[in-house]
Amino acid sequence: MHIITLSFDDGLCQSTLKTAEIFEDHGLSACFNVVAKGENPTWQTKSPVGDFALWNQLQSRGHEIMPHGYRHANKSLLALEESKTLIGDCLDVFRENLEGFEPARCVFHFPYNAATPELEAWLLTQVRAYRVGGNPINAMPHRGQQKLTTTGQGPGNCEAHLVGCIAQCLAESQGWLTYTLHGLDDEGWGPIGSDYLARLLDRLALIKSVQVLTITAALDLSHS
Ligand SMILES: [Zn+2]
Repeated sequence: MHIITLSFDDGLCQSTLKTAEIFEDHGLSACFNVVAKGENPTWQTKSPVGDFALWNQLQSRGHEIMPHGYRHANKSLLALEESKTLIGDCLDVFRENLEGFEPARCVFHFPYNAATPELEAWLLTQVRAYRVGGNPINAMPHRGQQKLTTTGQGPGNCEAHLVGCIAQCLAESQGWLTYTLHGLDDEGWGPIGSDYLARLLDRLALIKSVQVLTITAALDLSHS
């Protein structure tokens, strides 16, 4: 049994729409992790990002929208109190703007996958789980699982790295790969091609041991 979660950060408009379509073509839900303030991370291209009208529309189409910060701050570099305030503000904006959003049921995706142990401990009092940098192959979903670790690669195309991580996961008897992606084609940090994504989902659908799931769908398996 293997679970593969492809998690798309930053909400770049064009890529997000294309990603959603590709996942829908495969009968799958995608995971989008977006910044509450709706800003484009400064280190990226000037691609426009979506807004809560789009996030609500995508959610109603079956995709998962999760918080990725109030702004795109590296919380390993901030004072603990400032990080707590930013996350609190982020969860407030989501509660006010994303239909049905409940902090206690969400998974927080750290920008840059960066945090501190103190912040991680506090965050668990606010949310269901969080995603941070580390070994991208997690234990299979189980009760009490609140820390999910991930990797990604950029700023260039990350297809080869992603394929390597998938192969590493499939080489183990079981595992849950959580991989961080951003845009498609030339958009965002560490993109993959849109044709490549479609072919990858085709290929994964043929592997009997593999389920491609959102983070929440995977975590929910521990309750079924
Ligand atoms: Zn990001």
